[in-house]
Amino acid sequence: MFSLGSISNRMPYAFAGSLGLFRAAEAIASRRLRILTYHGLCEDSLRNEPWLPRTFVTRSQFTAHMKWLAERYHTVSLGDALRAMAQEKPLPDRSVAVTFDDGYDTTFSIAGPVLKRFGIPATAYLSTAYIGSRELFPFDRLHLVRSCRNAPGEPLPVPAHKTLPIHCVLCWLSRHWPTVEPGVSSAQRSTLQPASWETVRTWAGECFEIGAHTVSHAILGNEIESVRVREIAESISRVRDEFPNPGMSFSYPNGRAGDFNAKDMDLVRSNGCAGAVSTQRGFNGAGSNLYALKRMGVGIDHDVGSVQAELAGFRTISDRFYRLRSRLRGRRPIDPEECPFEFIFSPVSESAPESTSKFD
Ligand SMILES: [Zn+2]
Repeated sequence: MFSLGSISNRMPYAFAGSLGLFRAAEAIASRRLRILTYHGLCEDSLRNEPWLPRTFVTRSQFTAHMKWLAERYHTVSLGDALRAMAQEKPLPDRSVAVTFDDGYDTTFSIAGPVLKRFGIPATAYLSTAYIGSRELFPFDRLHLVRSCRNAPGEPLPVPAHKTLPIHCVLCWLSRHWPTVEPGVSSAQRSTLQPASWETVRTWAGECFEIGAHTVSHAILGNEIESVRVREIAESISRVRDEFPNPGMSFSYPNGRAGDFNAKDMDLVRSNGCAGAVSTQRGFNGAGSNLYALKRMGVGIDHDVGSVQAELAGFRTISDRFYRLRSRLRGRRPIDPEECPFEFIFSPVSESAPESTSKFD
């Protein structure tokens, strides 16, 4: 998952489009590979639900995006694009690859038939521990906890999971999720549930390539080295054993600057992947690092004009901000032994609100 930030204003894009700026920008970078990032999808009626992740798109939105892509761009599988780039062969003009992170059931059940209808190949990256588990992804459980109230008038403070090891996030959830789970609606569950392995197998034979997205959706920059090694190697091995593909690739959870490093890229390469994708915005071409490919994120605020703006390269400002913030903030991985929640949420201290505020 990643934050789309405040990039939902469509008016400037409509204006730029009317001036023909998108077409001019597309022409200048026509030989470079664009990679779109989707996550899950939902039915149109759920679009305005407060619990819906902003990285989701509706069935109608996605259909409009793919129809427009099929008319305007040359859609390629990322595996084929990686093979061409590794051999320094030119890509077809206006090449776009479609990718999905995490492994939601709706990636296959809603997006699959649309991709098939338009003949568009795609790559789905799986956080393997949740596939077939019937357990929601930890970031979605946190989001649901955040939107619930554990006591009248008192929202439960939720940890800032993007700066914590996954062990700490799961530790916190093990304590608080059981009180929220019984209230999860069938619409929430069916929209947010991870796919089963059976569903993935079915669609891997259709229009999807399958890639790895760590075992437990660990943001590698928050983890100590032994955890990074395990998360990368075990997820790649699980996917490769079941879906062998010489063009297999990896997606770094969260995927921004500071969320992965050169050692992680080496591990992905040495575990047999042909490339890896980040969530840093931009184009890819000759000279691009195949293990840190750039993508363009699409979410609920993207109409067709906004997707066109992404592909034309008009939406890179927010990424510059994230890169600068990451450089200024720095990162220190936390050893699982240091998990703050075993202290913060111990029976003695969990009722002290001042002790939890730093995790809001
Ligand atoms: Zn993810």
